[in-house]
Amino acid sequence: TRQFFVGGNFKMNPATREAKQALVKVLNDAELDQNTEVVVAPPSLYLIPLQEIIRKDVKVAAQNCYYKDSGAFTGEISPGQLVDSKIPYVILGHSERRTLFHETSEIVAQKTRAALDKGLSVILCIGETLNEREAGETAKVCQAQLEAVVKVLKESDWSKIVIAYEPVWAIGTGKVATPQQAQEAHADIRSYLTKAVSSSVAEATRIIYGGSVNAANCKELSKLPDVDGFLVGGASLKPEFVQIVNSKK
Ligand code: 13P
Repeated sequence: TRQFFVGGNFKMNPATREAKQALVKVLNDAELDQNTEVVVAPPSLYLIPLQEIIRKDVKVAAQNCYYKDSGAFTGEISPGQLVDSKIPYVILGHSERRTLFHETSEIVAQKTRAALDKGLSVILCIGETLNEREAGETAKVCQAQLEAVVKVLKESDWSKIVIAYEPVWAIGTGKVATPQQAQEAHADIRSYLTKAVSSSVAEATRIIYGGSVNAANCKELSKLPDVDGFLVGGASLKPEFVQIVNSKK
């Protein structure tokens, strides 16, 4: 059985250290479902200070890293530096990285390979735009994004991957996927993994949903057979993140 997974992607928030400390306090004081794996991803300059003050059963993730190990790459952070700083997870391929920072699926694959080689676990984001969904290309787009990564991974690498299905039209829009849309996309991703990797990897890999998840819609989505958790943006900055972590309770 797949352990339920809830990630909070803070993106380029919060604006101040005080606000970040308040967020940590909410989590530290809360009763969190011990059956759920919880990860929070602050901006990179807060990774280490946040890790020092957050409860030990909540893990910390970077929002991005580069694929090179060191060198003249101004503004980048390497997988080795994350490991050296005891950061266990990295989010890769977020749609904001793909769209605003022009990361191709091949770059995301290179980053994934490099992160795994250093021992990081990866939250790998995929998802279609509204145009692609309306053109009936959701499964095709998700598969193409995954295929680039499948090509560079060994079967044993998959135990370190969590796939985040985040339809671009649902991110930050308040337009959450319907349970049917989410279940269908997740089931398609899982059946692609069966074909492209193996049935045991497909069975074991967590596929989490992201895009306008909040305290009001998380319970219903959490019951879907192929939804193994959430990647939460806006609501991860609010006390309701606790309810999302506890959506299976
Ligand atoms: P929202 O929850 O704000 O829609 O963001 C989702 C997301 O992009 C998480 O990575």
